[in-house]
Order: sequence, then structure tokens, then C-alpha cells
Amino acid sequence: MKVSTMSQSEPITGGCLCGVVRYEASEPLFDPHYCHCRTCQKASGAPVVAAAFLSRDAFRFTHGEPKLYRSSPIVERGFCADCGTYLMYRPLMREWSDWIIITIASLDRPESLAPERHFGIESQIAWFNTHDDLPRERYEDDFIEILADANREEREAVLGRYGSR
Ligand SMILES: [Zn+2]
Ligand SMILES: [Zn+2]
Repeated sequence: MKVSTMSQSEPITGGCLCGVVRYEASEPLFDPHYCHCRTCQKASGAPVVAAAFLSRDAFRFTHGEPKLYRSSPIVERGFCADCGTYLMYRPLMREWSDWIIITIASLDRPESLAPERHFGIESQIAWFNTHDDLPRERYEDDFIEILADANREEREAVLGRYGSR
């Protein structure tokens, strides 16, 4: 009998619907969360995206490459050019350039990683609720503009709020 267990040494794998793009993580993902922001909704076509952070050094594509779309001055999103699966995004700002964010549902074992908080609840769709007691955080109204502009005074505070990982 084959017993399926997830050991620490077993790489975390995932990929798109059609199988052209496959990836592997050599370290555990961290800070799993829901993002309700409008960009995630549009990028996925779903009311919410569950995603988690990973060190960029611990991530690699094992088959194919996603097409990248620069959805804002601070983020590049990757999706399969053949089937459209939304796989990952990566911040373009220097301060967060060590991270990549992976969509949990694109993992081969999405059940292994449960979201621990909600981001972007200012855009949460009224008929959609996950019915949990997880922390819920809003993004600043001009979150993207603040992070994209090195001269904005609020930038350090915003970086500190989301960047303490
Ligand atoms: Zn695909
Ligand atoms: Zn989002």
C-alpha cells in the first residue's frame, strides 16, 4: 500500500490546467492569505484568490514558463499562455524583490496550505464570504501609487505594514 505523506524534503509542486507550465518550491510557502483586491479578481476571474509567499531563490519552473503581464507599476503577474491559469505574481519593487507569490489553488496539493488572513477586503464582493474569523485587512486607497512612488512620505509605513516577513 502506498501511503502518501508530505515530508519536508519532498518538493512542493504545482502547475497550470493544461500542464505546459509546471513549478517547484524547495522551501515551504509562508503567509498564506486570501486577496480580495480588484486586480486579483480580474486576473483570476474569481471572487477571491488564495495565495502564499515564497522566497524567489526557492522557486523554479520545471516545465514551460508563464506569460507575464504587468498589472501595475509594482506587480508582474504570470499565467499560462495556453490555458490561462493564473499561477503567480512578483513584486517589482526592490524592497520586495526577494519574494514571489504563488496561487494556492495551482499547487498540486492545495489542501496543504490554508489561508490565515484576508487582504484587500475593501474590494470583497458583497455576496461572497468565507465565514471565518481570520484577520481582515484593507489596502490603502492609493496603495499602488504609494508603493510605486519613491518620494511618497507614506511609503515606509506601507512597506513596513506588509513587508515585515
Ligand atoms: Zn496551461
Ligand atoms: Zn490582490
